[in-house]
Amino acid sequence: MIQALVFTDLDGTLLDDRYDLSGAAAAMDRVTELGALVVPVSSKTCAEMTLLREQQRVPTPFIFENGAGIDWGEHQQWGAGWVETPFGVHLQGSSYPDLCEHLVRLRHQLGLNFRGFNELSEKKISELTKLSLQGAHLAKQRLASEPLIGLNTEESVAALERELSERGLLLQKGGRFYTATSRRQKSDAVAEIVALLQGQTSSRMSVIVCGDGPNDLSMLSLGDTAMLFSCSAMHVSEPAAHFEMKNYLSDTPTVRRLVKVSGAGHEAWSRALIEELSP
Ligand SMILES: [Mg+2]
Repeated sequence: MIQALVFTDLDGTLLDDRYDLSGAAAAMDRVTELGALVVPVSSKTCAEMTLLREQQRVPTPFIFENGAGIDWGEHQQWGAGWVETPFGVHLQGSSYPDLCEHLVRLRHQLGLNFRGFNELSEKKISELTKLSLQGAHLAKQRLASEPLIGLNTEESVAALERELSERGLLLQKGGRFYTATSRRQKSDAVAEIVALLQGQTSSRMSVIVCGDGPNDLSMLSLGDTAMLFSCSAMHVSEPAAHFEMKNYLSDTPTVRRLVKVSGAGHEAWSRALIEELSP
């Protein structure tokens, strides 16, 4: 029986700039052994997140592309038969081709110069992200959201944000890029999983959410415990944004505990989680 649901961002939280997937998977397995279900939540694609899941001893569901989709996986060993969930990939919102078409139209309409990942080569994405060419190939396999480069002014961000919002779409700020998505954030997918699992048991599971950036704020505010990671090397969130996030979470009545974790990566992550889950 699962005692806690742990939702965790990847970059700047469970992962740092070493990008150590096997270390991250081992840390997730250790926390699973303590009676938690660990669900990674990221702006990464399903293809990228599958690489992490392949290294887990007990594979768990994950949320990809900022909440646009959930991959429940095929074998729910973690549920040990007490819970029934869907299987495989579930997507919400606009399709990727529709989203890209909207963006091209808006670029012309607003006279902006941004480019989406679908218009960039793997080599260019690799230069921008420091991913390998193979990593860039996986990052291009998108199902529902589009990272954008070239949105260099506050005015261009505001103009695009306004037009997208009129079309039921969102512009979200991640670690390196602004990303256009359907009106669905990480928190929507987190809430969906919590409702589905909590609805199948009478005992209350605690919800722990780990994140570091502004696009984690909505899901952090759904946690009984919000763990705010402050990353150093990866430049994931600017200090001012972090300060505002702390204030916001301190004022969120449903967040019973706000834990500040300095550092990122699987060592800092597992230390903080093990401490939180230990009786
Ligand atoms: Mg992050």
